[in-house]
Amino acid sequence: MSTDTLDTRDEIYVGGVWTRGSGALIESVNPANSEVFATLHGATTADVDAAVAAGLKAVEESGWAKKLPHERAAVLHRISSAIEANADRIAELQTLDTGKTLAETKALAMSAAATFRFTASALETMEDALTSPRGNYLSMSTYEAIGVVGAITPWNSPIASDAQKVAPALAAGNAVLVKPPVWAPWVSLLLARICEEAGLPAGLLSVLPGPGRVVGDAIARHPDIGKISFTGGTSTGRQLGHIAAEKIMPITLELGGKSPTIIFADADLDQAVAGVLYGIFSSSGQSCIAGSRVFIQRSVYDAVVERLVKGAEALRIGPGTDPSTQVGPLVAHAHRDAVARMVEDARLAGAQILCGGAAPEELRLQAGAFYEPTIIGGVSNSDVICQEEIFGPVAVILPFDDEADLILQANDSVFGLACGIWTADYRLAWRTARAVSAGTVWVNTYKQFSISTPFSGLKESGLGTEKGRDGIRSYMHQKSIYIDLSGASIPWAGN
Ligand code: NAD
Repeated sequence: MSTDTLDTRDEIYVGGVWTRGSGALIESVNPANSEVFATLHGATTADVDAAVAAGLKAVEESGWAKKLPHERAAVLHRISSAIEANADRIAELQTLDTGKTLAETKALAMSAAATFRFTASALETMEDALTSPRGNYLSMSTYEAIGVVGAITPWNSPIASDAQKVAPALAAGNAVLVKPPVWAPWVSLLLARICEEAGLPAGLLSVLPGPGRVVGDAIARHPDIGKISFTGGTSTGRQLGHIAAEKIMPITLELGGKSPTIIFADADLDQAVAGVLYGIFSSSGQSCIAGSRVFIQRSVYDAVVERLVKGAEALRIGPGTDPSTQVGPLVAHAHRDAVARMVEDARLAGAQILCGGAAPEELRLQAGAFYEPTIIGGVSNSDVICQEEIFGPVAVILPFDDEADLILQANDSVFGLACGIWTADYRLAWRTARAVSAGTVWVNTYKQFSISTPFSGLKESGLGTEKGRDGIRSYMHQKSIYIDLSGASIPWAGN
């Protein structure tokens, strides 16, 4: 793939203006071969101030919030079509920046287009309510834009995370500042170019790459930012939650996970093994919803472990640009090394590495941030390796005896993001789905997503909901209005 055709100009997007940033220099490295493919000067806190001011002005001058829903929806439909038309370009750029396979980044680009399309359609179906009056007046509940909001996103699926925040924030009538991750800023900038070409009024969108502790923090603390929508790690989410509490500002947090995926003895084992391998090793495990704790009923434990190990060893590791690759590199060497350290610590603590547990030996993969699909046994659910998010291609496997034992173990986690259940018994599936602490449960499938279905995390996996028809509402204030119909004075005043 040639980088000449890809959009990697050293420019950030501040309040509708493309400009070279004067913040920290970001070196973008292709994790498949360690080559620096672009450099980018990031934003400063002054850029945050300028972007907020431009956002406020743009909302006012373009009349964005006051436009009728179908008028805003028309712009979002055009953005959706433009994303679709540029899907290959987006996919190539994201593969270069994150290492993900082209098949996955193309799917993420198409899902971003679908998010804009769905949000545009949903916007036209939104309704305010006439509420029941208790007197001679009209009472209603209406929704209004917040003003300027901040969207802070992680590196694992940048185009999809951006779309999930930018589409509803704009649909609701706001301006939005996006703070993309340092490890993957480029597709957010490309999205801004696409939005600009699709006719989004200038100033409504800013894209401000840079270190989270500087740029992200400044966005969250800015007095004119009325909401933060954050996707990322739980510790960062907690810090942002403190800022939101100080400002009394709404915040949506989509955070980490350590999701259980459960194989009952009666499951279709072909289906279960394929689903579990996909659930943990696709995206090289760099997925908030990765099914990273695999619980297997004891009577089928040995047979299933053997099949999982065989399946993991057969996965094809390679660069994301190779169409036969199933497991691409991790996003960066620093991250690969952090994953390797966690596995090594578990090994030293007595865990058994059943497969993987190292960088691949193949010569062609030596320069990249690759790590073998790894399965770890001989652990107990309370071990560090079973409790902490690894965010890499590493599964721990744990036996369970019966339903009660399973639920105890599955829920013994600070996280509550997702869960997979593999069984032929629909009553058992239903009971387990209801008993497990998770925002999303899949039965006999995994990692399937519909933009019309709400997404949220329980416990330390998050706060608030994204997606779904009501996703737009989370970027709005609710306002109640009473209008007198009697023409009479309130008797208390005495006239
Ligand atoms: P991260 O928390 O390190 O960073 C996320 C974003 O926050 C980045 O843009 C970063 O620059 C910014 N940031 C960092 N410190 C900040 C601060 N003090 N103030 C403001 N902004 C700050 O997460 P990551 O490593 O980029 O992403 C991986 C994490 O994201 C994993 O924990 C994963 O589970 C989670 N994630 C969750 C979901 C979900 O929907 N629940 C989806 C994808 C990823």
